[in-house]
Amino acid sequence: ATLMLVFYVCCLHSCFIIFYVLSQSTTKLFIDGKFVESKSPEWLDIHNPATNEVIGRVPKATHEEMLAAVDSCSRVYHTWSETSILARQQIFLRYQQLIKDNIKELAKLITLEQGKTLADAEGDVFRGLQVVEHTCSITSLMLGETLPSITKDMDTYTYRMPIGVCAGITPFNFPAMIPLWMFPMGMVCGNTYLLKPSERVPGCALMLAKLLQDAGAPDGTLNIIHGQHNAVNFICDHPAIKAISFVGSNQAGEYIYERGSKNGKRVQSNMGAKNHGVVMPDANKENTLNQLVGAAFGAAGQRCMALSTAILVGEARNWLPELVERANGLRVNAGDQPGADVGPLISPQAKERVNSLIQSGVDEGAKVLLDGRNVKVKGYENGNFVGPTIVSNVTPDMKCYKEEIFGPVLVVLEADSLDDAIKIVNKNPYGNGTAIFTTNGAAARKYTHEVDVGQIGVNVPIPVPLPMFSFTGSRASFRGDTNFYGKQGIQFYTQIKTVTSQWKAEDATLKSPAVTMPT
Ligand code: NAD
Repeated sequence: ATLMLVFYVCCLHSCFIIFYVLSQSTTKLFIDGKFVESKSPEWLDIHNPATNEVIGRVPKATHEEMLAAVDSCSRVYHTWSETSILARQQIFLRYQQLIKDNIKELAKLITLEQGKTLADAEGDVFRGLQVVEHTCSITSLMLGETLPSITKDMDTYTYRMPIGVCAGITPFNFPAMIPLWMFPMGMVCGNTYLLKPSERVPGCALMLAKLLQDAGAPDGTLNIIHGQHNAVNFICDHPAIKAISFVGSNQAGEYIYERGSKNGKRVQSNMGAKNHGVVMPDANKENTLNQLVGAAFGAAGQRCMALSTAILVGEARNWLPELVERANGLRVNAGDQPGADVGPLISPQAKERVNSLIQSGVDEGAKVLLDGRNVKVKGYENGNFVGPTIVSNVTPDMKCYKEEIFGPVLVVLEADSLDDAIKIVNKNPYGNGTAIFTTNGAAARKYTHEVDVGQIGVNVPIPVPLPMFSFTGSRASFRGDTNFYGKQGIQFYTQIKTVTSQWKAEDATLKSPAVTMPT
């Protein structure tokens, strides 16, 4: 009976949270521990991408509201940074449990606002949850270094210290995972945090904030504002903000990197991608085709690590008909419908852009082997659906190769040798992720060493590193010098103090001033 009671209380609690977020057609700001209605005259509609129905509105926070949020972060910083590391750790231990308990509700909200399938939305939360779990090791992660006896009676040691108020700006495609790459890492190190989620999917961040509050995070340690360019400029310019984490497109990321850096802030900017899957003729065909199709079309191709470009080497070019057959077997449907593999794109504009990039391939001489442009989804005729699309005979000078498509489109190039494939990959400006499919260890080793890309999978199509490592995109996919999460994440959110101390016995007291440089 007690267990049943606990069960009902937990269910009620989750229902309350999702009700709290969804029932309010106006998205709240989260300032100083309170969910508050914005006084802004400017609001944006939020749509369900499967139907294009308006499901809520999000404000462009006013200047006063943004100031109140950053002031709250600044005020609380001194007490939070001096709160014991064990107390901070306990909050995140409770937080990871609350996220686990609410994973299904978080996933439902993601599917509603973002469109991805429920199973994929759970994956979105789960990959963020892993970062939260990792923050619970902060007592080891934040250790400094010591070196005793650097000279007589003298020792040197370092502390990792928080840096102040930090801010995060996030994209629409991972409403849970990407905010969870940011504020838990920043806060567990002792910083306070200002988050600006994507205006297209703001609900999940609020639900994550509510759970963090329930886990015991003091008021003001996390604040959330909403908006677009003004909110971004505010973050780049406000002197109290010491560091900015950004994930999103190159257009925004490069701008934020420049503007934030110019204002003396640390900035890490994870940006766009064009990820190549190199298929060697000796690869395990069954695995490779399934992996390629899953990684190209999962999340409707709206992942920065989507394997959106295949390079078929030598005889592997004969696998194209089977690739098409498998992609054609995927079911396109609203994300909350049973059996859905590919959900809608985020907006009608995104759909139009993807369709026009497919058409540009046709106009430039490529061949559309599978065309998802006219897909019809029964009951969801107004949704932003594009079915799996495969474009072959693509060459590196074509627009559909040069631009990030960010939709369920796989462009296929061919190469005569591994060396030729490596040349293609290295000539592309992006360096986010790549994968090679082969049963030859020497080929895999050559590829991983010669390719200039940050994250490489060997028979692994989406090699997003677990949080004990870092997310290491490179070249045009990243600006900054310290990557997200893992050791590098701790480095980003802390600064080092180096203490050199001398404790002399009384009989060793200096007899006269030492005016030369100490050696
Ligand atoms: P986006 O750049 O449009 O939006 C990201 C954030 O920046 C939002 O909060 C938005 O309000 C703000 N923003 C948008 N345009 C801006 C501008 N011109 N100036 C200032 N701020 C601006 O990105 P998106 O469409 O939400 O996300 C998709 C992009 O994100 C893709 O390019 C994808 O590859 C990239 N992405 C990269 C990673 C990674 O880790 N490398 C992960 C996820 C997504």
